[in-house]
Amino acid sequence: MKVGTVALVGRPNSGKSTLVNNLVGQKVAITSPKPQTTQFSMQAVYQDEDAQIIFVDTPGIFAKVSRDTRLDSAVKSRQVNLAAERTLKHDIDVILYIVDHTRRRGIEENRILGIVRKIDRPKILVINKIDLKSPSYLAEYKFLEDEFDSVVEVSALKNKHLPNLVHEISKYLKEGDRIVIREDMPTAALNLDSKLYIAENIREKAFLVLRDELPYKIRVVVDETKKRKNGLFYIKARIITTDKRYKKMIIGAGGLRIKIIGSMARKELEVATGQKIYLDLKVEVEE
Ligand code: GDP
Ligand code: MG
Repeated sequence: MKVGTVALVGRPNSGKSTLVNNLVGQKVAITSPKPQTTQFSMQAVYQDEDAQIIFVDTPGIFAKVSRDTRLDSAVKSRQVNLAAERTLKHDIDVILYIVDHTRRRGIEENRILGIVRKIDRPKILVINKIDLKSPSYLAEYKFLEDEFDSVVEVSALKNKHLPNLVHEISKYLKEGDRIVIREDMPTAALNLDSKLYIAENIREKAFLVLRDELPYKIRVVVDETKKRKNGLFYIKARIITTDKRYKKMIIGAGGLRIKIIGSMARKELEVATGQKIYLDLKVEVEE
């Protein structure tokens, strides 16, 4: 049995979350058309007869600092990047560097590449979105081949060549025993902080519903998770924002928006956990 931990690195929107989700076969990390939705690293476990691979998705970590002039977000990006470097130093056996060949390389990509170059681990260049033919800047990535131990072309979204990727990863993993996945987590197959996972899920839905009206002005706190006697999984959570105005916006006329956000989050969490969920969701202001 091959066992090990794999970190996914790549700029926002390259397809890291989609790749993890489709490899693991259920929704784990959060995917979103908006970059930086997931601020924390998420872990998901892939298992088959021959391998057990823990994927560490490090989403949104390489946020652009330069173009963002607001101080708070610059500070945030820096902290997030530190977290990323810590993640990468921590027991990682293989690095997957995910690139989107339909986007030009640019400064952001080069920064990430700079970090990847410093890591002394087996590295796989994963060229994603090969289902898309144009535009293609494949040449801007292909010449990196020499620097990587393997190169794999995939479509995370269309599930293309994913077994091949698992095969390549396995080459760099050591023989070991299967790790037992804790069962007291809401999702048995997931190896991640469940409260954080739930909070990120709610946050994502809030962004989807609110769109650009409220960019990044909220955080979500999960206060309580409890399995009730009647079988319902009870979750108490708060969306916290900085201004009364925003609170009104999130709640929406007649409470419609918060209802939609809650219901979207609940449905996804039910799928992810295989349990019936009661989500008690409130909005609060904290200046
Ligand atoms: P992340 O920020 O790196 O985690 O990227 P996501 O997984 O959230 O994906 C960003 C966007 O790219 C989403 O809209 C995905 O549906 C899309 N995407 C991811 N992988 C593929 C792929 O292989 N092909 C295509 N066409 N789209 C993809
Ligand atoms: Mg992501």
